[in-house]
Amino acid sequence: MTLANDKKFLVTGGAGFIGSTLVRLLISKTNHSVLVVDKLTYAANLDALELVADQPRYTFVQADIADASKVSDLIESYAPDVIIHLAAESHVDRSIDGPADFMQTNVMGTFTLLQAALGYWKKLPGARQEAFRFHHVSTDEVFGSLGETGLFTEATAYNPRSPYSASKAASDHLVNAWYHTYGLPVVTSNCSNNYGAYQFPEKLIPLMTINALECRALPVYGKGTNIRDWLHVEDHVRALLLVATQGRVGTTYCVGGLSEKSNIDVVQEICAIVDQLVPAECPRASLITFVKDRPGHDLRYAIDPSKIVTELGWRPQETFESGLRKTVQWYVDNNAWWNRVRQRIYGGERLGLTA
Ligand code: NAD
Repeated sequence: MTLANDKKFLVTGGAGFIGSTLVRLLISKTNHSVLVVDKLTYAANLDALELVADQPRYTFVQADIADASKVSDLIESYAPDVIIHLAAESHVDRSIDGPADFMQTNVMGTFTLLQAALGYWKKLPGARQEAFRFHHVSTDEVFGSLGETGLFTEATAYNPRSPYSASKAASDHLVNAWYHTYGLPVVTSNCSNNYGAYQFPEKLIPLMTINALECRALPVYGKGTNIRDWLHVEDHVRALLLVATQGRVGTTYCVGGLSEKSNIDVVQEICAIVDQLVPAECPRASLITFVKDRPGHDLRYAIDPSKIVTELGWRPQETFESGLRKTVQWYVDNNAWWNRVRQRIYGGERLGLTA
């Protein structure tokens, strides 16, 4: 199915890092309309939507996806052709400190949204019912940890090991069940670690970049040998648009940039770029400090993206090197944004250590 280019997208979590990047793409590069539904938690960021805020095809509503009557009302009144569901609690360390919010939003919120979408979808007339899609945005963390070799594929068994990944795995299973049991036309994507502009500075790349710019310690968990498969957020949202509009119903797509890096290599690369862009007396690499590891820290994630490449023709446009340089430059140019976040919301302190 290919959608006409003037459909209505309801995007949950559209004020978050990936959601806002998707919304900017939808408004600037397509003729689709967008309703963002977002609770505006600590992680939300309306600055990232400023560019689209005045556009007639864009609407924003503050709402909790776990609020059943509100979510039903919004879906019924907006009448979307596509729902792309990104709203979630997304930070593993915070899930260790306080898993309840993760269960509430990621599990109960997804359940509530599925029920509201199903009620709406059942009443749609034939052609619109057939064309409707519910796209659930998930993570590769649901698959657990890889050893030194191998790649996650759509056939990999689930083995989540943090409260965050367990809550996302639960939501993936709910989405799958609503397809098989009720026939709701769903599609799911499982993506590797993202990075890019406007990422909340609790995640590795923005945290290290900002600390390096401020010549603060760069706390690397354990020995820094954990490996992640990095994807620039703009490559991810291009994949999301393809999956939502052309993905095969009832199936999943693994999305990754074939860009495996150990955490210590990522931090070293950030140090080198920051040293070039904003020279300081001390080389930034001398700020690297190894700290107690994250409890249950998965060793390695890596994605085989063959299915989305062959079926949907997706390919990442950024290499890790080009994407990281752009991202560090963005944080250099946007210190007013991250200073505000640092002062008002999160100052960079350690999270996620069990007692
Ligand atoms: P984020 O934390 O930056 O944004 C999440 C957004 O969801 C925020 O705007 C927040 O206000 C909103 N939200 C949270 N609870 C809500 C609720 N109950 N109701 C409505 N809105 C709520 O997250 P992100 O990094 O943009 O991730 C988006 C999605 O992509 C998540 O589902 C995440 O699991 C998934 N994902 C993220 C990555 C990554 O590397 N960041 C990788 C793969 C998949």
